[in-house]
Amino acid sequence: MEMAKAKSYPTLRSARRLELIYEIPISKTQKFWEKLEEGKVFTTRCKDCGKIYFPPSGDCVDCLTSDMEWVELSGEAVLVTFTQVAVRPQTFSDYEPYIVAVGKLKEGVNVLAWLTGIKLEDVKIGMKMRLIGKVSREGRGTYEFIPGY
Ligand SMILES: [Zn+2]
Repeated sequence: MEMAKAKSYPTLRSARRLELIYEIPISKTQKFWEKLEEGKVFTTRCKDCGKIYFPPSGDCVDCLTSDMEWVELSGEAVLVTFTQVAVRPQTFSDYEPYIVAVGKLKEGVNVLAWLTGIKLEDVKIGMKMRLIGKVSREGRGTYEFIPGY
């Protein structure tokens, strides 16, 4: 039963969480993807209560409003937690093992993204990171953490 075995591999949780990143609806967030390709990370803020959403949302769940504005994030973050994903979901099977990190941005929101440009043994909870926009190998806008501000 190869199939059943594959479905229960230990990194399934990480794989699922990664999928969330790529399932952001494009309709109201076109600007987000365009700015990432320029190296900038924008997101949406509720005009009524000021809550910042990441990934961007077209609606505020607190105010039940669609009155949102675009803001550029500082990118400054500290590492909250991380894990190394050694067994990749099939989509990323041509990538080397990678580090997935949760960073708390200066603006107060937690972001889940890859952490690149650092060896696993050098990664420390609380370290400074920068969230950057970039073009992925597949030619799409994406975002990731790099060490330092
Ligand atoms: Zn609001």
